[in-house]
Amino acid sequence: MRKLTSEQELMVATVRQFVDKEVVPVASAMEHRNEYPHALVGEMRKMGLFGLNVPEVYGGAEIDFTTFAMIFEELSRGWLGLAGVIGTHSVLCDVLIRFGTEEQKRRFLPGLASGERRGGICLSEPNAGTDLQNISTTAVRDGDVYRISGSKMWVTNGRFGNTFLLLARTGPRMAPPHNYKGMGAFVIEKGAPGLTVSRDIDKLGYKSVETCELHFQDFPVPAENLIGGVENEGFKQVMTGLEAERINVAARGLGIARAAFEEAIRYAQRRTTFGKPIAEHQTIQIKLADMATRIEASRLLIYSAAEKKDRGERCDLEAGMAKLFATETAAEVSLEAMRILGGNGYSKDFPVERYYRDAPLVVIGGGTNELQRLIIARNLLKKYKERE
Ligand SMILES: Cc1cc2nc3c(=O)[nH]c(=O)nc-3n(C[C@H](O)[C@H](O)[C@H](O)COP(=O)(O)OP(=O)(O)OC[C@H]3O[C@@H](n4cnc5c(N)ncnc54)[C@H](O)[C@@H]3O)c2cc1C
Repeated sequence: MRKLTSEQELMVATVRQFVDKEVVPVASAMEHRNEYPHALVGEMRKMGLFGLNVPEVYGGAEIDFTTFAMIFEELSRGWLGLAGVIGTHSVLCDVLIRFGTEEQKRRFLPGLASGERRGGICLSEPNAGTDLQNISTTAVRDGDVYRISGSKMWVTNGRFGNTFLLLARTGPRMAPPHNYKGMGAFVIEKGAPGLTVSRDIDKLGYKSVETCELHFQDFPVPAENLIGGVENEGFKQVMTGLEAERINVAARGLGIARAAFEEAIRYAQRRTTFGKPIAEHQTIQIKLADMATRIEASRLLIYSAAEKKDRGERCDLEAGMAKLFATETAAEVSLEAMRILGGNGYSKDFPVERYYRDAPLVVIGGGTNELQRLIIARNLLKKYKERE
């Protein structure tokens, strides 16, 4: 692994300290109350975490993807929800940085970097998640604006956010495999009439941070907010942005797994049965060894994808593998940790039940792991294509 600069190390250490001192002591209680972490999000703003991937020239920290992944790991180790607040926000920034016009970057990136603008992504719909090519939301040109109509589901930051990446149909629906055409990606801002946050979705875990359904009815978006000023590129622009999201979701999985493992190994040395700490029973030792090995393998996969992205190369295959492995690890390790804690693992007195409830989100979000397997296989078949 590449060595971090002292500046990068300081940034990760600062987030680690914030998590230990300010997040860990309050996360479970706030999550159980479904209470929004306004003060912690305020601290994240002060630390510059909203501008992690934004170039310095627009007021961001412009960090590399490895450091980016480390910061997401630390935040998720404390509380997945906090990583969620800046997760899709950073996808909006990523798409703007790579495809936005200079005017769009200047208009949106400084506010996003400071956290004054809180971002999110409006891609999924009631009838389109994995199959994003099937979206129904439309953007119809009307003079200087596009009018957006339709529903977007599962929008993280939907209530407290104000600036979103939105994918909509700008042209007629085409038959597969051409149905990805005719879509535009927009930056939309709350304020004009025609946008309603219709509900906050009640969830198994990942509580406190809101996940909303948004309804649009002839909502006006200035034509200059069409990303890159091009109508038919939206699907591709969004898809390449999801590569970065997979690395951040993988790192979130790693954070959950590490938190669960650290709780389990601590507990195993304190809890005594049959005259000795359970850590001295071989069955428990085997669990700990397997958990730690999977965690280390996840970390290496994530860094490998991040380093490829830092070299400016496409990393679909590596990001897909990292996302698949690290998030399945989160699900498995949180269950193993619960088993090691026995009854206490099932109680709200210990944080393991929260990790166990949070883990399925990273398996589903950022593209389900079924989809990751398809992406991995597609890339492998391309790489190993038999020559005729
Ligand atoms: C808490 C939370 C927050 C979210 N935040 C956001 C957000 O901010 N913005 C946003 O746009 N979306 C967000 N999402 C949506 C998320 O991206 C989708 O839930 C996810 O992409 C899956 O889509 P779906 O729920 O419609 O499931 P579906 O697409 O209906 O899939 C159902 C099942 O079928 C499987 N499946 C589908 N197609 C195939 C196939 N071709 N081959 C094999 N299996 C397949 C899936 O893997 C899954 O197991 C969020 C979701 C959650 C739960």
